Amino acid sequence: MIASIIEMPNGQAAATAVFGNEGASGMLVSLGPVPSPTTAVVRLAGNAWQISPMPFNAALQRSSSIGKMVQTFTRSLVAQLQHIAACNALHPVEQRMALWLLRLRDQTGDDAILLTQEAMAELLGVRRPTVTLVAAKLKDAGAIRSTRRGVVEVDRRRLEATTCQCYEAISSRLDRIVPPSKPPSIFSAR
Ligand SMILES: [Zn+2]
Repeated sequence: MIASIIEMPNGQAAATAVFGNEGASGMLVSLGPVPSPTTAVVRLAGNAWQISPMPFNAALQRSSSIGKMVQTFTRSLVAQLQHIAACNALHPVEQRMALWLLRLRDQTGDDAILLTQEAMAELLGVRRPTVTLVAAKLKDAGAIRSTRRGVVEVDRRRLEATTCQCYEAISSRLDRIVPPSKPPSIFSAR
């Protein structure tokens, strides 16, 4: 799973989107050679393929399947950016932490999420002491079962009860764009 992180000139950072097998980092290069303001940070390890911009754009010109894949991913990325922007402006950090934990949990299907407090602070755009405080609140609510070094074990149902409406909004919108029954792996494009 890759997080798209935007960093401010003063060093503060926050995540703008996360994606896994359904997408690819740097795919917006298809829109033109504009430097990206975000950094792609691998948050959950896995296998990935890499292609340089020039051969990718050449393949894109030749393949309508790749073109559709890029369109689908761009739509899902824009949907995430819109919801995350609203969420960051409107909802408290406790609900936002629950949202990110649910998004990470959905990527792996595992209640034990490999995530350090520093990484969570970066996703949320807050300082680490805030993460400690908010994680303790989620633990009291039973939404986080345990935190040990670099692993957060969550209770999905309680996290859903804790998070804001953005989780359901993002999930249902992304499911409409990329139906879960037919995950269009970019790697299987013909
Ligand atoms: Zn929200």
